[in-house]
Amino acid sequence: MNIFEMAKIPMNKAIEVMHLDPNAAAIIASPERTLEVSVPVKMDDGTVKVFTGYRSQHSTVLGPAKGGIRYHQNVSMDEVKTLAFWMTCKCAVAGLPYGGGKGGIIVDPAKLSKRELEALTRGYTDKIAPIIGEKRDIPAPDMNTNAQIMGWILDEYSKLTGQYEPGFITGKAICMGGSLGRTAATGRGVVVAALEAMKVKNIDPHTATAAVQGFGNVGSWTGKLFCDEGVKVVAVSDVYGAIYNPEGLDCYAVGDFVAETGSVVGFPGSQKISNAELLALDVTVLAPCAMELQLTKDNADAVRAKIVCEGANGPTTPDADEVFDKKGIMVVPDILANGGGVTVSYFEWVQNLYRYFWSEEEVIEKQNAMMRKAFKNVYNKAEEFGVNMRVAAYIVAMNSLAEPMRIRGMI
Ligand code: NAD
Repeated sequence: MNIFEMAKIPMNKAIEVMHLDPNAAAIIASPERTLEVSVPVKMDDGTVKVFTGYRSQHSTVLGPAKGGIRYHQNVSMDEVKTLAFWMTCKCAVAGLPYGGGKGGIIVDPAKLSKRELEALTRGYTDKIAPIIGEKRDIPAPDMNTNAQIMGWILDEYSKLTGQYEPGFITGKAICMGGSLGRTAATGRGVVVAALEAMKVKNIDPHTATAAVQGFGNVGSWTGKLFCDEGVKVVAVSDVYGAIYNPEGLDCYAVGDFVAETGSVVGFPGSQKISNAELLALDVTVLAPCAMELQLTKDNADAVRAKIVCEGANGPTTPDADEVFDKKGIMVVPDILANGGGVTVSYFEWVQNLYRYFWSEEEVIEKQNAMMRKAFKNVYNKAEEFGVNMRVAAYIVAMNSLAEPMRIRGMI
């Protein structure tokens, strides 16, 4: 099944149980706009290579579109549309004044030199410039993009528009108007969501264990902040494999090891296991923080975690969800659990609009409060409607979208 159609399955369940106005449902089913661009880049060897990129704006009902830009060889228009749809729902669940957007380029950035990467980034910016902006569509980092790439986009966009408008992009370096606390924000939100889930399940975090799939931005901060909270992280992984230590891994030390060697594999004192084995560990929390479609009908039965807390977007397929429901595993869905990143991106935007910056403590305090509130809203809907947390999150999102649609006269 096409990933966009698959992504809409839990939303359709929410629409059914909450009896959402079918006109609102019809509008939400398709993105407002999706742009495909061709970006020619003069490579270091003198040849010209043409890359394909996208920017999708799923909804601007609640505010400007908001969402990251992904560089990956598997990017497709369907994937970008799906990610934009999830951003709409995520922003609505988090209570942010944003719609959803997402961008991507089909490229393996590891195969480009730094100069080629900068040229590709600037070319892509030129092509999407007509539809982005501080009050239109605000990009951010996603897989394989970072503060350096945001800096090139800001520089290019400033040249095109002739003005300095740092709020049109988030995830920037601090010296470019970035927010303190942004780098760790998505992982921090995953940990806050997991702790809230433990609370409702009466689990003491000091007795809890965790396995984290993916050790990039989201996964590494999830691991580190779990360690800070006294949760024993027994396994982490990356694209090269997984490592396991039943006594617990010091994720800060693993982070230093990755910075030196490029992988978690080989971390002193750990045992190498496969990614499949990591997903099947008997832990309190499994946090998939790598990419979509990792927990499927083929491996869901093997999962023994009590809580699956989704740092990645779309790591669980609908048939895996059914298995988890049957097994009584609580899934804290992506559109709730990984909303911490966009929440602090929102804080960055607010700080940019005001040109007034907050301390890291202030950012963390505000983020934690918003995450806990979002968790409570979703948990209460799950109880009210007798549905799982994913369907409940879509009920919260659809409720937030439908009323403004009605008042605007769209439905
Ligand atoms: P990243 O590129 O920094 O890290 C991805 C990590 O996953 C890397 O360690 C990579 O080696 C690993 N990985 C990839 N495929 C894997 C596999 N099959 N098995 C195990 N590990 C694998 O990306 P990121 O920014 O951390 O994003 C990860 C996920 O979180 C994506 O789904 C992204 O859309 C989502 N997300 C990111 C943010 C953010 O703020 N960065 C916010 C919300 C959601």
